[in-house]
Amino acid sequence: MIVAEHIRKLKPYEGGKPIEELKRELGIEGEIVKMASNENPLGASPLAVEAIKRSAGGVFRYPDGNAYYLKKKMAEKLNVNMENIIFGNGSDELIELIYRTFAVEPDDEILYCYPTFVEYKIIGMAFNKKLVELPLRSDYAYDMDALIDRINPSTRIVFLNTPNNPTGTIIKRRDIEKVLEKSGENTLVVIDEAYYEYASAVDGYEELLDLHKRHNVIILRTFSKAYGLAGLRIGYGIASAEIVDYLNRTRPPFNVNILAQQAAMAALDDDAHIQRSVAVNEEGKKFLYDAFDRMGISYVKTYANFILFDVGRDADEVYGSLLKRGIIVRSMSPYGLKTHLRVTIGTMQQNRVFIERLKEVLNV
Ligand code: PMP
Repeated sequence: MIVAEHIRKLKPYEGGKPIEELKRELGIEGEIVKMASNENPLGASPLAVEAIKRSAGGVFRYPDGNAYYLKKKMAEKLNVNMENIIFGNGSDELIELIYRTFAVEPDDEILYCYPTFVEYKIIGMAFNKKLVELPLRSDYAYDMDALIDRINPSTRIVFLNTPNNPTGTIIKRRDIEKVLEKSGENTLVVIDEAYYEYASAVDGYEELLDLHKRHNVIILRTFSKAYGLAGLRIGYGIASAEIVDYLNRTRPPFNVNILAQQAAMAALDDDAHIQRSVAVNEEGKKFLYDAFDRMGISYVKTYANFILFDVGRDADEVYGSLLKRGIIVRSMSPYGLKTHLRVTIGTMQQNRVFIERLKEVLNV
């Protein structure tokens, strides 16, 4: 079969095993605690679950390809126009559409600091783009001076993830403005705020939404994190009408399914669920900071619902030992952080079990 060389070199995404399979394989009797994918440990809003049940009978029809009612509701909530919003099958899909729409020439450069959300890289490789990856600073934040310095007329997309996955660090608004000052009109600046609901509750997080009014900015958010709808795949972008219009030209017409649209609408009505989720996250964050401090483990202060921490020994081994004890976290060694892991902040009970098991594994 003829396959492009850059596709031949790609490794397919390796998902984790189903939890029941893992349990059988590892001989684990009790509960598995999954703290690996930055999902909301409280789950989805009960209003969203109700909406899914209510809508189930309607799935024989195609979804509304323009997500009209959801878009209307979102536009009102964000105080933007409907023409400024686009929904994706997860914000993942929007990243792909951004590549497909705006990075079409072989010499186009894609710029970001790394480690960051790995899809910027994986999708870029699938599109055979020139990826310009800059290291993070020693405090694990984006090196904004280096990034701004590297912007040039070939830079087609700049990815700014704030808070950044996997570090939890944020980018100052002033630095984003400097990126925009340096970027020409053909450089799209993607501000990925997947963890916005968590971040905006923390002191020091600066609002960025109004930047969507610039002609070359798109802000990405998602229902997968604080809204607890990761399994339904729905995210959204906020941008100028022109950018949204171009993205709509490459968007599959029925990319967001009926259940996702209905659940998202219901979830938007449940502010209390978001508030509870953020409160649980704040409480868990303090608990984990405190536990790490006592154990002499260094970590990066987070604005999101996960914490990057350094165990000072092989991260894959610690990952494996935690897994055998029924705790799934993420080893950061594939990102080049050989002694770091990332844990999603859970319920207090999950956090306690995680710390107990980590103490056993590290012998502290
Ligand atoms: N951006 C960031 C920074 C993320 O961490 C994630 C999910 N891990 C996404 C985007 C994609 O989220 P989704 O496709 O579920 O909306």
